Amino acid sequence: MTESVYAQREAFRRLLGREQGSRLKDPGGRLAVAIVYPNSYRVGMSNLGFHQLYRLLNRYGDTFAERFFYMGPGREVASVEQFRRLDEFDLVLFSISYELDYLNIPRLLNSAGIPPLASNRGEGFPLIIAGGACIMANPAPVASYFDALAIGEAEVLLRPALEAVIDAGGSSKDRLKSLAGVSGMMVPGYTHEPVKRRYLENLDEEPCHTAVVAPDAEFGHMYMLEVERGCGRNCRFCMVNRVFSPLRFRSLAGLLGAAEEGLEHCKTIGLVGPVVSAHPQAEELVRGIAGMGGRVAISSLAVKPVSEGLFNALVAAGANSITLAPEAGSFQLRKNIGKQISGAEILEAVAKAYSAGFKALKLYFMAGLPGEQEEDIIALKDLVVECGSIYRRRSLSINIAPFVPKPFTDFEREPMAPLELIEKRFEYLKKELAGRKVHVKLESPAWSRVQAVLSRGDGRLAPVMASLARPTLTAWRRGLEAAGIHDEEYLGSIPEGGELPWRKLVEQ
Ligand code: SF4
Repeated sequence: MTESVYAQREAFRRLLGREQGSRLKDPGGRLAVAIVYPNSYRVGMSNLGFHQLYRLLNRYGDTFAERFFYMGPGREVASVEQFRRLDEFDLVLFSISYELDYLNIPRLLNSAGIPPLASNRGEGFPLIIAGGACIMANPAPVASYFDALAIGEAEVLLRPALEAVIDAGGSSKDRLKSLAGVSGMMVPGYTHEPVKRRYLENLDEEPCHTAVVAPDAEFGHMYMLEVERGCGRNCRFCMVNRVFSPLRFRSLAGLLGAAEEGLEHCKTIGLVGPVVSAHPQAEELVRGIAGMGGRVAISSLAVKPVSEGLFNALVAAGANSITLAPEAGSFQLRKNIGKQISGAEILEAVAKAYSAGFKALKLYFMAGLPGEQEEDIIALKDLVVECGSIYRRRSLSINIAPFVPKPFTDFEREPMAPLELIEKRFEYLKKELAGRKVHVKLESPAWSRVQAVLSRGDGRLAPVMASLARPTLTAWRRGLEAAGIHDEEYLGSIPEGGELPWRKLVEQ
C-alpha cells in the first residue's frame, strides 16, 4: 500500500469513526451497490437525495451499499465504508444534483479503471446508472457515460430497478434489457424516448432525512429533514416547479416523528425544502421541535406572505439566520420573472426579520436576467442599501448569481447574458456596496457560463468533458476548441421551433 493510499484509508476510518448511522453490512449474497456523489464528502454528505439512496439501499435485505465521493486528482477511488474498489460492485449509482459536477464523472470513472463512455465498456464492468435533479431535467450531456438513467424519484424507481437487475441474472445485456422494462428508466438502445418522469405521490410513504450523521459535512451539525417537494409558485427561471412537481407536503405528525428521532443525534433540525414557509403547518412544526428541546435551522422562506408567527417561532427555536430571495432589484423585473413582490413588501419582510431577532439576513439575487436593464441593477443596489439600513449592526450578506437558462423553465430558450455585461454589473455592485457593511458574494461569471452550456447541453459535450485532464476553465475552453464547438452555440437564444434536446429525452 502506498503512503497516500494508507493516508486516505486512515482519513476514511476517522470519518467513519465520527459518523453515526453508517452501515457495514455483510455483502454475503447481496447485490453490491456503490453510490457515488461526484463531489467531495463534505458536499455529498449534505445532500438529502444522497442520504435517501443510502438509507433505502441499506434497508432492503437483498442489497448493501457503500459510498464514494470525488476525492480530487490522483486520489484512490474507494468506498468510505470498507475501501472497496468501484469495480467490485454490481451496480454503480451516481447521484447528480449540480451540472458542474459532470466534469468529475469521467475523471472518477477513469481513476477507477472504468472507461467513461458506456460504448467502451463491455461485460465484466458494473452497470453504471445516473439519477438526480440534473438527470431528470436534461440527461443529454452525460447520457453516454451511463448504461441507464433514472428519470424520476428514487422512492419509486429504485426498488423496481433493483428487482429488474436481480431477476435478470448476471450478464449486463440481460440486466439492461430487464431494466428497460421499468417505467421511468431510460436505457439507451433499449427504451423509447421521451421517458415520462415518475414521482412519489404521497411523501409520507417514505421519510426523507439524514441517514448518516456526518459531522465533517457542510451541514453536519444538523439533522436534515425534508418538509416538502416541488413548489406551487411559478418563477419563470426556476426548474424546481417543473422537475419536482407536483408540490407535495409531508404531514406534521410524520415530520415531528422524524425530528424526535433526529434529536437523539443532533441538537439542530435543518428543515429542507424549496420554500419551507409554504408548508401549511410550518409554524406548528417549528414550535413542536422547540417543544422537544431542539433548535431549528431553515433553508428558505418566502418574502410574501410573511408570517410573523413563524419568524418568532424560528427565533425562539434558536434559528440565527434567515434567507430571502427577492432575485431582482426592481419591481418590473421581478414581475417579468414571475416574482410579483413589491419593494415595500421586501422591506417589510426584512423589518419583520429584524424585529423577530434574526442575527443574520441573507438575500439572493440574480444578474443578467432576461429583459434586465442598467436601472434594474441600480435598483438592486438601492434595495440592498435600504435592507442594510434596516439590518444595521447585524449581519447582512447578499449572494448574486448570473442567470443561467434552465431546461423546462419559461426561460429555457433565453440567452445567457454576455460575460462582459455580467462582469460590468458585478463591478458596479462591488464598488457601490463597498464600505456599507454588506457582505457581497458574487458567483463566478465564467463558471456560470460553463454551467449554462452543460445545463442546456447535448451529447457532443460528453467526449469534451472526458478529454479534460483537469477541470479548469482553460482546459474546458481548449477542450471545446479541439472538438470544434463554440460555447455560444449553447448560450445564445434558441428560436421558437429550434430543437430542445431535453424535451426529446424527458417528459415532465
Ligand atoms: S424560485 Fe423558489 S419560489 Fe420560485 S418557483 Fe422556484 S422554488 Fe418556487
